[in-house]
Amino acid sequence: MVKLVDLLTQVRACTACADLPLGPRPVVQLHPAARLLIIGQAPGTKVHATGQPFNDPSGDTLRRWLALDRAAFYDETRVALMPMGFCYPGKQGGGDAPPRAACAPLWHWRLRALLPNIHLTILLGRYALSAYLPERASDSVTEIVRTGPVEHPSLGRLWPLPHPSPRNRRWLAQNPWVEGAIIPEMRAEVCAVFRGACPSTPLKGLRPLENPRLLISLILLE
Ligand code: SF4
Repeated sequence: MVKLVDLLTQVRACTACADLPLGPRPVVQLHPAARLLIIGQAPGTKVHATGQPFNDPSGDTLRRWLALDRAAFYDETRVALMPMGFCYPGKQGGGDAPPRAACAPLWHWRLRALLPNIHLTILLGRYALSAYLPERASDSVTEIVRTGPVEHPSLGRLWPLPHPSPRNRRWLAQNPWVEGAIIPEMRAEVCAVFRGACPSTPLKGLRPLENPRLLISLILLE
């Protein structure tokens, strides 16, 4: 049976996308002991330059959501980071281009099979949601996030979230129930995945009972 370390060697040598604007540089963090798997979108330029996943403002927001400091987040024996596209895809329409479509079918399922200790998988944004929850392909990100976690027959517990990109700040402001209710619930589950050992930092921002606007949103959701 192929070992994860051997498959990662193949990933790091991958040149399947010959036309990447900055060339292939797969950025993943994977270890067979990891208990939390995060499926993101694709590296941006800073992540490409440093080779460190989520080493950017999206990562700052994600770590705040998870209440994990950088040391815990980058502990590969705890957290696995696997975007839908492993290499920087370039620009398109004022933002980053979509993750390369060839990447996940080529690598994800083989890599996932070599992560036997994953207790929770967090899906960030449209591309991860479409790939891992294809039955919800016609639903909006808002509808899928509102549904909350689902039990997948072979992948276990999947938690759908919006992407923590700064480009989603307006959407997050328009949907305060996400940071006010969904994120704290998810964060508690992440702590349980780590057997309550995750370092915690206060979640700045909205709390439902302290913020009238959020409280109204939650009431309307009922
Ligand atoms: S994006 Fe994925 S498939 Fe394309 S070159 Fe990088 S690792 Fe290979």
